[in-house]
Amino acid sequence: MPFSSFALTEPLLRAVSHYPEPTRVQLESIPVILAGGDLLATAQTGSGKTTAFVLPLLQRWASASEKLKRNRPLNILILVPTRELAAQIRTVVQECAAHLDERPKVVSAVGGVSINPQMMALRGGADFVVATPGRLLDLVKRNALSLSGVSSLVLDEADRLLDLGFSEELNCIFDLLPARRQNLLFSATFPKKVEALALKSLYDPNRVRIEEEPKSAPDIRQQVIRVDTEKRTPLLRHLIEEEDWKRVLVFVASQYTADHVVMKLRRNGIRAGAFHGDLSQGARSEALEDFKNSHFKVMVATDLAARGLDIVELPVVVNYDLPRSADDYTHRIGRTGRAGEHGVAVSFVTAESESHFRLIEKRNACRLTREEIEGFKPTETPHAPLASAGTGGIKGRRKSKKDKLREAAARKLKE
Ligand code: AMP
Repeated sequence: MPFSSFALTEPLLRAVSHYPEPTRVQLESIPVILAGGDLLATAQTGSGKTTAFVLPLLQRWASASEKLKRNRPLNILILVPTRELAAQIRTVVQECAAHLDERPKVVSAVGGVSINPQMMALRGGADFVVATPGRLLDLVKRNALSLSGVSSLVLDEADRLLDLGFSEELNCIFDLLPARRQNLLFSATFPKKVEALALKSLYDPNRVRIEEEPKSAPDIRQQVIRVDTEKRTPLLRHLIEEEDWKRVLVFVASQYTADHVVMKLRRNGIRAGAFHGDLSQGARSEALEDFKNSHFKVMVATDLAARGLDIVELPVVVNYDLPRSADDYTHRIGRTGRAGEHGVAVSFVTAESESHFRLIEKRNACRLTREEIEGFKPTETPHAPLASAGTGGIKGRRKSKKDKLREAAARKLKE
């Protein structure tokens, strides 16, 4: 079914004419949203979900009354967990609206940067606001915008919004929104807390589940390499050179490790940059741009980069440190194999992190073959005392509650 079979206007169809056909989430969501219905969609990032809600919302906005457009009461509110996702969605809205006679005013309202430019941008109203919940509430408190005119609300990456502890802010925002509105909730995973949020915020939603469609599963080869903890950086270097990786996203457990691995790679002449929460928003955007423009070929990141980031042509993701949860694993490896491309996800598993990786496999109902690379064969045994367990434990740091729970679960599995 082509895009032209949707009741979308010609300027909107033109904006997506470079895509051969709609993705599944687009096929199923666009008619529902155009008809004004509520939607609950389980779809991974990379499935085309942003365009799936942006196109029909633009169409609804474009056909709204002239008076509404003139007054610019905030019409469409898109809530996201991170600044990076907000920036990406804003870009998609602008790209999809590029051929409309009248373009909507799209404002990004995110934390971590000065509030003043956002207050200025909101003067005279806005049609679309893409926001993180905390900053949105700050702006409301300062009377920079009102939510009483919102006709459609999007909760994007709802699982991540809740993981990041935004549930209280979301409740405050719901109280400020008009009771009659369209609600669209997108989430990569659907744990109990997302179900509760859906019950609270959606009215008789249409359900779209994309992850169950085998065809839409991204083409990602998962590779697991056994290696000693201390050999991970040399192995990473070896693979980058040997496999001739052009662009690789490396996940580590801490900001310290990110900076440390970057320093080691640079010392060996490999162009690398770090991406983590300790960097200013400007430095993060710059790092992302440098990576996308191939100014450096390796980006070493914390889980901040695990969700929402859309980097086309990212052939390889490496789990230098394992993620804490199976969900995080799914999100991390989902950075590659996007938009129908082939991707490789490599996980370094040390003697200490083996049991944790088995838990991830169990959760994901899979068992992957362990490989060893000549020259990097592991010598550690699971009981050897290690400086770092490779799953986030950093020498000298106190174990977090999550670390302790994970270790208890790993012990249980061994029994
Ligand atoms: P998402 O993060 O789910 O919004 O997916 C975004 C990625 O999907 C971007 O790389 C888009 O270029 C790509 N995309 C969106 N719509 C389509 C489509 N109909 N066909 C192919 N790729 C698409």
